[in-house]
Amino acid sequence: MRKNIIAGNWKMNLDYNEGVSLFSEIVNMVKDERKGDQLVVICPPYIHLNSLAKLGGAEVKIGSQNISDNESGAFTGEISAKMVKSTGAEYVIIGHSERREYFAESDELLAAKTKKALEHHLNPIFCIGETLDERNNGSYYEVLKKQLLHGLFSLTEADFSKITIAYEPIWAIGTGLTATPEQAQDIHAFIRSEIEANYGFNVADDTSILYGGSCNPKNANELFSQKDIDGGLIGGASLKSRDFTDIIRVFNS
Ligand code: PEP
Repeated sequence: MRKNIIAGNWKMNLDYNEGVSLFSEIVNMVKDERKGDQLVVICPPYIHLNSLAKLGGAEVKIGSQNISDNESGAFTGEISAKMVKSTGAEYVIIGHSERREYFAESDELLAAKTKKALEHHLNPIFCIGETLDERNNGSYYEVLKKQLLHGLFSLTEADFSKITIAYEPIWAIGTGLTATPEQAQDIHAFIRSEIEANYGFNVADDTSILYGGSCNPKNANELFSQKDIDGGLIGGASLKSRDFTDIIRVFNS
């Protein structure tokens, strides 16, 4: 059975005290208001991983926003999967479009990071998405297919079954533009069909596929009611406890 997941990506926001304060609010609200069995994950900057993993308990899981593809050693400024795992974090975002674009992360590098995460028992949330040009010129199915093929489809079936995919159209991230529920459903169904072609029906049916891109309490309900949308990766709205927990709540309504 695939899981329903709401994951927040704090990006490079919130100093130590601000992070603890927002996270404590989120944990309390989730405790009070969550109905149903969604998994809630927050992916803060590295400085927060350990303290928030302790505060989150069973209610809210913690993920990193990135890891190195290397095991350890002379890689100044990097953080390893083993280090992230040792904080109590259980998830890691891999291939966010901001890392692909600003840090030139290739599909091959992302495949190596994914393998490294799995070696250390971190659950990857693997992001794919097309630019506005690729959407407008109609090449987006090919673009997404290539990201899946090179980033993920060399995994064994057992490893692939630990992956969550986030479809994040780049033109919708932080822009206030959202894919329509129909556009998002169309792509989620396409992603699931590509998984089925590679790993079979059961694996495809069990894979959680999240939508990300200007998701908010107003549009969440319609997006999440699509049959192939299993939750969301939330950027801006995860920095406001009310908006983030409202998104969790509408998931159930
Ligand atoms: C994201 O960065 O993963 C994201 C979806 O951002 P936003 O919700 O702000 O568009």
